[in-house]
Amino acid sequence: MKFATLAVHAGQRPDPHTGAVTVPVSFVSTFQMDAVGKLRGEFEYARSGNPSRHALEISLAALEGAKYALAFASGQAASTACLHLLEPGDEIVTLPNIYGGTFRLFHNVMNKYNITVKTAAEAEPESVKAVLSEKTAMVWTESPSNPLLTLFDIGMTAEYLKNFRNKKGTKPLLVTDNTFPSPAFQNPLSLGADIVTHSCTKYIGGHSDVIGGALAVSDEGVYQKLKFYQNAGGAVQSPMDCYLLQRGLRTLPLRMKKHEENAYAAAEFLRGHKNIEEVFFPGFADFPNHFLVKKQMSGLPGMVSFKIKGDIEAVKTFFSRLELIIMAESLGGVESLTCHPASTSHAALPPEERKKIGITDNLVRLSLGIEDADDLIADLKNALG
Ligand SMILES: *Cc1c(COP(=O)(O)O)cnc(C)c1O
Repeated sequence: MKFATLAVHAGQRPDPHTGAVTVPVSFVSTFQMDAVGKLRGEFEYARSGNPSRHALEISLAALEGAKYALAFASGQAASTACLHLLEPGDEIVTLPNIYGGTFRLFHNVMNKYNITVKTAAEAEPESVKAVLSEKTAMVWTESPSNPLLTLFDIGMTAEYLKNFRNKKGTKPLLVTDNTFPSPAFQNPLSLGADIVTHSCTKYIGGHSDVIGGALAVSDEGVYQKLKFYQNAGGAVQSPMDCYLLQRGLRTLPLRMKKHEENAYAAAEFLRGHKNIEEVFFPGFADFPNHFLVKKQMSGLPGMVSFKIKGDIEAVKTFFSRLELIIMAESLGGVESLTCHPASTSHAALPPEERKKIGITDNLVRLSLGIEDADDLIADLKNALG
């Protein structure tokens, strides 16, 4: 079935016993056994699996066109479980622009376990290819990236990796953080990625009321390992949060269309404003790698970043004058949010690292909600004036 149908029905069919048309929230920690070693139903202990999470995982797998999905307590918990596939001595190859929390996980956590990180010079498949080594066990990508919306060719990278073997004789796993486009607009597994990671906190949840994360995968062996880490590490999604995510994702296709429409409107407006230095929006025909929007996506998320002319004081003035758009970290909710990446999402990066990748002090990230575009533009106009 098509995406919008799956969003409503996958993992959310009526309960066979009661006929309830929504998935009941299973507030339960353990399940009765009939005899030693014999479960009564499919579940044993709720960390290992429970009806609420099971239903959500079916929904998420369907949305990503994956065989399997695994739900975690946050996007970072999902990424952490994925990184547990690595062993000491392994190397991760990644891109210059990745989520600040992922950068922190690589450089301040994984490094303790003798797992090294190599960053490609540019977000280009050739640059990734150039730094692959006999130690490379994972290639970690993000497109469009947070916060500069850099587009990266996932399919071509998958092609390059197909014939590459590290010294263990294995192909490095291609991982894509698909948080920004959401499964509505990009499905990395269909482009050749091995694992998709999500912060469900953003578009999938969509209402700024839940923290959650997920992995999607089709390879049975990789799935079994991830499932083992999900249970062993235990950073699982709670039943209530599973419910909120499943409720949210039913409207994902509708919401994404409106987020996209508002992003185009805001980007056009910002591009023409005299107090704006630069606008980052992949929908512009002259945006670097714009061809990838058609090649690997079916739409754009409601994200626009821009640089204000002037210093940090000008930026502070802009934020202080907003009346409708809310200054807050995070993105992907129905309400428009804006943040200052240098001091929030990317504060974990050392200042010189931030500068190197273009996250300057005058950079603003805007997450367009689903409000009326006219009201959002009026607010931006007033703040920039
Ligand atoms: C927010 C975010 C994360 C982290 O997810 P949490 O749910 O906050 O743990 C990872 N990647 C990207 C691209 C994000 O925007």
